Amino acid sequence: MSHQRALELLKQGVGSTTANFHTDQWEAIDTIVNHRKRLICVQRTGWGKSSVYFISTKLMREKGHGPTVIISPLLALMRNQIESAAMYGVALGTVNSSQSNDENTLNKQRLLAGQLDALIIAPEQLANDVFVSEVIIPANPGLFVIDEAHCISDWGHDFRPDYRRISRVLGNIADTPVLATTATATKRVVEDVLEQLRVEGQQIYLLRGQLTRDSIHLQNIHLPKRSQRLAWLTHIIPQIQGTGIVYATTINDAFLVAAWLKSCGIAAEGYAGSIPGLSKADSAEKREQLEQALLNNELKVLVSTSALGMGFDKGDLSFVIHYQSAGSVVSYYQQVGRAGRSIENAYGVLLSGDEDQEIQNYFIREAFPKRELVHDLLGLLEEDSCDGLKKADLEAQLNYAPMKIGAALTFLKAEYPTPIVKEGPLFKRTVSAYSMPTEMIERLSERKIGEWQEIQAYLQESSCLMQVLAKALDDELATPCGKCANCDPENAFTSLYPHELGQKAVEFLGNTMIPIEPKKQVGNGHAQAASRFQEYNFPFRLGDLAHEPGAVLCHWGEAGWGEIAAAGKRAHAFDPRLADACIKMINERWQPNPMPTWVTYVPSQNYPNLVKDFAELVAEKLGLECVEAVVKIEKTLSQKRMENSDFRCKNLDGAFAVQNVRADEPVLLIDDASDSGWTFAVIAALLRRAESGPVFPMAIMSTKSN
Ligand SMILES: [Zn+2]
Repeated sequence: MSHQRALELLKQGVGSTTANFHTDQWEAIDTIVNHRKRLICVQRTGWGKSSVYFISTKLMREKGHGPTVIISPLLALMRNQIESAAMYGVALGTVNSSQSNDENTLNKQRLLAGQLDALIIAPEQLANDVFVSEVIIPANPGLFVIDEAHCISDWGHDFRPDYRRISRVLGNIADTPVLATTATATKRVVEDVLEQLRVEGQQIYLLRGQLTRDSIHLQNIHLPKRSQRLAWLTHIIPQIQGTGIVYATTINDAFLVAAWLKSCGIAAEGYAGSIPGLSKADSAEKREQLEQALLNNELKVLVSTSALGMGFDKGDLSFVIHYQSAGSVVSYYQQVGRAGRSIENAYGVLLSGDEDQEIQNYFIREAFPKRELVHDLLGLLEEDSCDGLKKADLEAQLNYAPMKIGAALTFLKAEYPTPIVKEGPLFKRTVSAYSMPTEMIERLSERKIGEWQEIQAYLQESSCLMQVLAKALDDELATPCGKCANCDPENAFTSLYPHELGQKAVEFLGNTMIPIEPKKQVGNGHAQAASRFQEYNFPFRLGDLAHEPGAVLCHWGEAGWGEIAAAGKRAHAFDPRLADACIKMINERWQPNPMPTWVTYVPSQNYPNLVKDFAELVAEKLGLECVEAVVKIEKTLSQKRMENSDFRCKNLDGAFAVQNVRADEPVLLIDDASDSGWTFAVIAALLRRAESGPVFPMAIMSTKSN
């Protein structure tokens, strides 16, 4: 197949008559299409890997080969991919869990009927053996593409267990050419990818491009406190032309930074894999809107967790700033590399703060399911009477957060030989014996710690930052960039900001408000509600028994009130300034409607005066009476130790009673800490059942982790 035809397709695909191949693009196409080899392309982001696989697909189809199968890790990527495939005349379809069954069935049929030139799927799809044996293999793929191939390697920072299924599938189609692409590959990752793609008697080719990007001015700045970094962001961002991304490590921080920038008049929004307060479907829609708004330059900046990642491509993005340190040099390189793809000057600033270490420790600790959880989970599935359990059944019997149970199930499903399978909604134990891969887990945890130490060293670096990044990625050819803060300190950003901005940021951190959403139901149906509240017998839809939207002053332990609240909890007495801060929040930011006319509180078991004294102080400042309306009638375990809704509800069932309720009068219900919100939901329902007016829950601090 000729270079000329390939070039024609490129021009058509990118919509430019003067387009030409980037270095290595034609070589890649030639290797796949004409020599039918397996190939790994290590090229920086923006190199044009999708041009390579769409042109190859078109050429293979013209030669009469079967369709291309593309494995890609993110659905966000798929949307863009389908549009760009059409430009090359490639009919691309997808089968994925966010589509309806009908759409998925249709695309499977189109693939088998030869009507699709390419199918793009998430690696998780390969977990479905029927899909592999009845769709993928019979479609007789002409080309197999593995996008973001570093995910296949457990040397990579974002190893995805499902990627390991790819090598098992490839074993079944040994003659099919394979293209694996990645922008981030250290030698170890490349070796690991090679190992996974290897088949008897076939050589695997490697095309490795230069990884550094000439446009980016790199800089590192350490500012220990959140308020300092907020002030710096507000000072610097308006000075940079164009749009950008600010990366934060947690969802809380992403939305906090976005709110701060907005309050300073900067067009910013928060972005995360799941957006607080939205359902999964709404969250996905919102993310798409936000990406589009940034692409259209309607936003100056998106403040995101690592969720805004692979597949988001805006060539003229002029800055990527990290509000907190990235977890590794490799992930930092990948994120900062989103800036300056098609412009001459862009900025990459890595800020770091005092809280970074603690956040990373948490991520490293929680990266794998706990041994006890896996043991208990398999134990339930192994019971003689067990014919498989739904995820909800497991949650009812295992005192672990739903997210942790979900992660353990995903982890186990991807193990080989797999100890569990999913049939319909049921998880079942297979006959394979199983023990946790302790050695692998230790090895990976140590590696993560090593990666963290490496980026800490990068933060201290005094030589060329771009060169250090490139070397960390085993690009030994890189030379000093001449642009970074170490090469060209005169053009670097100042680490200073106006004093007033610092003051304003401190005030902002003290003036947050976290909403408490009312729970609309106490279970996913009558049966679950009945099992959770045998004593109280609440209807499964709360209706009138639900409380009104509530408010929390701060996150536990965070700068500002969070630290003062945490200290109060430890000292068993709250600083009176917290009461003033709550009053200010009630009057200025929350404004409950109708305004409560009396106050009550959640009695605590161990320190009976802690919340009582605080509630009385708040009531006094509001000029209202504080009534002892809620009494604890049954000793309970600490609600903090209950890890999912089933355990939380059962722990609260029958624990409280109400008295002295003021009929029809709106009430402020105070607790010191709010986590899942079940305590508020239960007490509010009891108050409402005793004829109270609307219930407005308020807590000093949120102990919810995220
Ligand atoms: Zn440099």
